[in-house]
Amino acid sequence: MEISQIINELGEERENYFNAVAPPIIQTSNFAFKKVADLHKAFEDESDCYRTGGYLYSRGLNPTVDILRKKLAALDGAEDCLVFNNGAAAIFAGIFANIKTGDHIVSVKAPYTWVQRMFDVILPRFGVTVTYIDGTKIENWEKATQPNTTFYYLESPNSWDFALQPIREVAALARSKGVTTLIDNSYCTPLYQKPIDMGIDLAMQTATKYIGGHSDTLGGVLSGSHAMIKKIFDSEYLNIGSGIQPFNAWLLIRGLRTLPARLERIVKTTREVVAWMKRHQKVESVIFPFDESFPQYQLAREQMKEAGGLFTFSLRTNKMGSIVKFCESLQHIMMAVSWGGHESLVIPKCAGINPNNFDPANHEHRYIRMYVGLEDASYLIADLEQALAGVD
Ligand SMILES: *Cc1c(COP(=O)(O)O)cnc(C)c1O
Repeated sequence: MEISQIINELGEERENYFNAVAPPIIQTSNFAFKKVADLHKAFEDESDCYRTGGYLYSRGLNPTVDILRKKLAALDGAEDCLVFNNGAAAIFAGIFANIKTGDHIVSVKAPYTWVQRMFDVILPRFGVTVTYIDGTKIENWEKATQPNTTFYYLESPNSWDFALQPIREVAALARSKGVTTLIDNSYCTPLYQKPIDMGIDLAMQTATKYIGGHSDTLGGVLSGSHAMIKKIFDSEYLNIGSGIQPFNAWLLIRGLRTLPARLERIVKTTREVVAWMKRHQKVESVIFPFDESFPQYQLAREQMKEAGGLFTFSLRTNKMGSIVKFCESLQHIMMAVSWGGHESLVIPKCAGINPNNFDPANHEHRYIRMYVGLEDASYLIADLEQALAGVD
């Protein structure tokens, strides 16, 4: 199905709600039944209740959320998906549903903060171990796999240094060993990378970023086969109760309407800003997957249709004070976590490092990540230029 049809029509049965173009927010916790037999059917299989007895309870399924769910599954090219209250919850459920005591996970190094926390703090309590690897090479996945390995965790590109994994090869290796795969596809969104088509079992993306697009809601998506999604729905999704609320789902439907247009503009502006930054004498390096100097440029071109609005750079300075001054001198570009909204942002790596441990010889400590939003390129460049002028 074409992207335009998915975004504008799929899942929207407008004749059921006065032919309203925008769907209603069905803000209800429960749904009423007239027949015990229908209630019985809904209890029997809550994952399919709207097709049998009728909607039951909004911790499970809700009509507004279902519109979003159909669209997001179709964008991923997946049989089904679940929409969570945020991306971290989607990852947690996707992993938790697929591991048991004694299992071993192979993960890319430096995954998203809360994944790392799950691996380092929560899972060891249940006897699950994790090996972090440099995921750029298929040999490393093979070498790290143990007889009890049941799960591979991917994030491609990583959201700081944009390290990629050869997704098709990792997926094929996992299939040959009966290992389940989950990828964090937040950087690309399914518009620019399709992990399910490449053989991955579970594709996750935070909807907080590009899908929402306006920095006003959180959300998370987990896509996969019918069987996989039903397994997660019947246990972790209903038990943890981390499904998205109808109003937030409605905001994400609204965000989706303009997703392709926003991404197109962000891609174009990012190219201009990256090219300008690369020429600036106070900028030491720029890391961006679609830049020819990127170490995995070829693979990026093969796997990704486009790169989004995130890139990382470092300044020609050894002083943390200069990095701080640069970030604090920006007049329009804000300093905040997250990305994918209308507003351009920066975040310096050193904000997460104890100043006593700041090591200028460690290139990563000097990273500044920038997200390019929907402003004009010239407006952003002028702000960067005046802030760079103060760097010494
Ligand atoms: C933000 C983010 C998440 C988590 O999403 P939330 O919606 O904030 O929970 C996961 N992975 C990446 C790469 C992210 O940037």
